[in-house]
Amino acid sequence: MTRVFSGIQPTGEPHIGNYFGAMRNYVRLGEQYGQNAIYCIVDLHAPTNPLAYDPAQLSRLTFEMALANMAVGLDPQKVLFFVQSQVREHSELSWLFTVSTPVGELERMTQYKDKAGKLESIPAGLLMYPVLMAADILLYKADTVPVGEDQTQHIELAREIARRFNHSYGDTFPEPKAVLEQGALRVPGMDGHGKMGKSKGESSTLGLLESMDSIWTKLRVAPTDPARVRRTDPGNPEICLVFDYHKLFSDDQTVLEVADGCRTAGIGCIDCKKRLMVGIERELTPIQARAAELRQRPGTVLDGLHYGAEQARAIAAPVMEEVRGKMGFLN
Ligand code: SF4
Repeated sequence: MTRVFSGIQPTGEPHIGNYFGAMRNYVRLGEQYGQNAIYCIVDLHAPTNPLAYDPAQLSRLTFEMALANMAVGLDPQKVLFFVQSQVREHSELSWLFTVSTPVGELERMTQYKDKAGKLESIPAGLLMYPVLMAADILLYKADTVPVGEDQTQHIELAREIARRFNHSYGDTFPEPKAVLEQGALRVPGMDGHGKMGKSKGESSTLGLLESMDSIWTKLRVAPTDPARVRRTDPGNPEICLVFDYHKLFSDDQTVLEVADGCRTAGIGCIDCKKRLMVGIERELTPIQARAAELRQRPGTVLDGLHYGAEQARAIAAPVMEEVRGKMGFLN
């Protein structure tokens, strides 16, 4: 039996990079695996990075992330969708893993080194972050973890933690495997450099729930092939980020037409961008309508998360009972 686990960071308004890279995939896996597709908004991870953590914002960001995923199509009645801090067993298992994880292994984690390098005083939680992540996954005995490339090292550590526990206390946990997110697409940032991401600022991202006017304001001035100085200059769509977006949002016919129009100077860049807006509107309008509807009924979002937490606890509680028993605690 496959059981998929994915942690969702409550880092802010999701952008189209999150949508194409992960959120659509969550819905697809949910259709395939039902309640064995486990999606957890990992809010306990947020305070480990003092540069990004704002206690005044955390619950709002958590709610927004839940709302956005539900608007995209994640149904808490069909998959397991909940907030990490509402299932206390995550913290407990994390501690029980912490006590036997060598500090040296944690200090070797690339993400830890990157983040710690920017801090004067390093919180222990930052070092322990991948242990909590291992607990998130193993608490549900999940065997499959869709991740971006930057997380594969953490999954390798989770495998090591599972192996160590099994060796000490008997076969308990599967060794989870990282699956590079299927269908995950690298969505370029609006500046045309690298992947879309919040760290590069609002102007580099297109928000999933951003208004069409605001998206057009950014798109209108987005860089195109610099060879197209005049309208009559032919261009190369393969080096243009607008064309990358066409491949995500436009139908096949439109993609072919704009590629040809670009190469032959048959279409101007503004017209090309207007045609892209048609695809963006078609894709995002229904999602934004569902999000607006959910915003009117916040109780639906919260009830969905509470229901998910209950279902999650139903799996987590017996696993913790097994772990406590094997480790010698009085149950
Ligand atoms: Fe980019 Fe379109 Fe202009 Fe070609 S026509 S350079 S694909 S915006």
